[in-house]
Amino acid sequence: KDDDAAAMLEAHELLKKFYHHLLVNTKEGQDALDYLLKRGFTKESIEQFEIGYSLNSWNFAVKFLANRGFSLPLMEEAGLLVKKNDGSDFLDRFRNRIMFPILDHHGNTIAFSGRVMTDEQPKYLNSPETKLFNKSKVLYNFSKARLHIRKHHQAVLLEGFADVISASLAGVQHSVAAMGTALTGEQAKVLKRNSAEVILCYDSDKAGMDAVLRSAKTLSQAGAEVKVAMIPDGLDPDDYIQRFGAEKFQHDVIGASVSVMTFKMHYFKKGRNLQNEADRLEYIEQILKEIAALKNSLEQEIYVKQLAREYALGLDVLKERLSELSRTME
Ligand code: ATP
Ligand code: MN
Ligand code: MN
Ligand code: MN
Repeated sequence: KDDDAAAMLEAHELLKKFYHHLLVNTKEGQDALDYLLKRGFTKESIEQFEIGYSLNSWNFAVKFLANRGFSLPLMEEAGLLVKKNDGSDFLDRFRNRIMFPILDHHGNTIAFSGRVMTDEQPKYLNSPETKLFNKSKVLYNFSKARLHIRKHHQAVLLEGFADVISASLAGVQHSVAAMGTALTGEQAKVLKRNSAEVILCYDSDKAGMDAVLRSAKTLSQAGAEVKVAMIPDGLDPDDYIQRFGAEKFQHDVIGASVSVMTFKMHYFKKGRNLQNEADRLEYIEQILKEIAALKNSLEQEIYVKQLAREYALGLDVLKERLSELSRTME
């Protein structure tokens, strides 16, 4: 019902404001605030992204919502509360976590993600799928980033909330993230509708690099131009910005983004010793297969030439092998 949705939205809005108040104005929120500031979050980023803190309590939100006349079963449906194991009562879903509000593309608060301040698991706890929150459709920060995306004809896709917040404060305001899951076709279409080009800038670990390959595919299928911005080993965009600053992130990372093929040429070298002949041959075959899969023959030509130059191989030989591979792929 529409009334239910309206109540759910109102509850999210009120709780968001209260979580934020707890973080910035109260003694109970002091440790959480210290944690954030120590990590490099600023007063400005905390305000802009309306970050909050959920108390270490089993029933703070229960009482907060009940006092304001919300139906508790409806608040459970909204993902803010959970049912006690024996079904007798409701408890807070989010306890003692840093609270990141998740907004829909119009700017309504529809969910939360809560981060622990220790190395407990799960690191981030998200609201479940609800009537308001469809994970596969929402991009974090899209409502704020939309105009910047349109202006730049470009969107920057990052992995996590902290990455988006740091990137935005570092002047890359056309930054968004998926909800900690693989990019979906629906999210890719939203990006494609608003920008010609999408720059993928994921964490520099195996999981991140593999996710780049998957997201690049999803984005190309949606018709977007894809580029990849690479972060040095072991860091994520947030770490990078904290360590090297906004300027270097803008110029040496985002400004230095490369084509997906160039990214593959780089990534597939990892774990190989290209001085070794067998490894080198395998690598070249792997790249040739990728080139064979390209639709655009001009692009094929460019990358074959690049490969020929880099490994001092005859162009004719490479092209012959390329057409063999193309035939077997049909
Ligand atoms: P932080 O810098 O706070 O440690 P991060 O964004 O670097 O966070 P990653 O481990 O790189 O964290 O994960 C990337 C994103 O994946 C997170 O921002 C979050 O959206 C999502 N994520 C991580 N862990 C979980 C989890 N346990 N459950 C749901 N989503 C998660
Ligand atoms: Mn990661
Ligand atoms: Mn990360
Ligand atoms: Mn991080």
